[in-house]
Amino acid sequence: ESFNDFNLNKQLQFAIDDLGFEKPTPIQAQSYSVILSGTDMVGIAQTGTGKTFAYMLPILQDLKFSKDIHPRVLVMVPTRELVIQVVEEIEKFGKYSSVRVIGVYGGTNINRQKEAVAEGADIIVATPGRLYDLVISRALQLKSVKKMVIDEVDVMLDLGFRFQLTNILELLPNKRQNIMFSATMTDDVNVFIHDFFIAPTTVSV
Ligand code: AMP
Repeated sequence: ESFNDFNLNKQLQFAIDDLGFEKPTPIQAQSYSVILSGTDMVGIAQTGTGKTFAYMLPILQDLKFSKDIHPRVLVMVPTRELVIQVVEEIEKFGKYSSVRVIGVYGGTNINRQKEAVAEGADIIVATPGRLYDLVISRALQLKSVKKMVIDEVDVMLDLGFRFQLTNILELLPNKRQNIMFSATMTDDVNVFIHDFFIAPTTVSV
């Protein structure tokens, strides 16, 4: 497997060259065509396997330039540390693609995040609680979301985020692609998939 097999646009290829990545990791190789095809996907992968790029590669490859201020991609993660980390990864990867990414998480000034969100973004990376607060206060609209990623679902459900996740998923447009990553396949994760995903392809490394 080589990145050449992905037919990436120049902007992404330049960013990968800058990062010095030589070839896709197994989760990246297996997820790429599944995510590009638009079907729902469940990825079973641990941290350190390259799972962030596994979903961001096809998403960025597919993302068209837009002036829409409403996000078209929503990434939900369990902790603020992970929000910051994922935003950094997307910035490295999208540095030639002029992708607008904003991270939102609790425990910080919500007004500043409202201002940031009002500027517009292609991708929002968020913890579910703060995301929900921004949506119900009408600072953020989710009507343009076409792809939704939940990273570390198992951790999220363990932390008791099921209710917030469910609330947000119910606000998303019905016509969307659902992607999730989990280190383990628990009963909770299975119930969640059953409730919200449509015929997902499972990719496991
Ligand atoms: P993650 O599993 O997403 O937390 O990624 C773990 C680390 O692997 C991150 O520091 C990435 O920058 C790095 N990484 C991701 N994809 C590749 C790749 N294809 N080759 C080398 N390193 C990578």
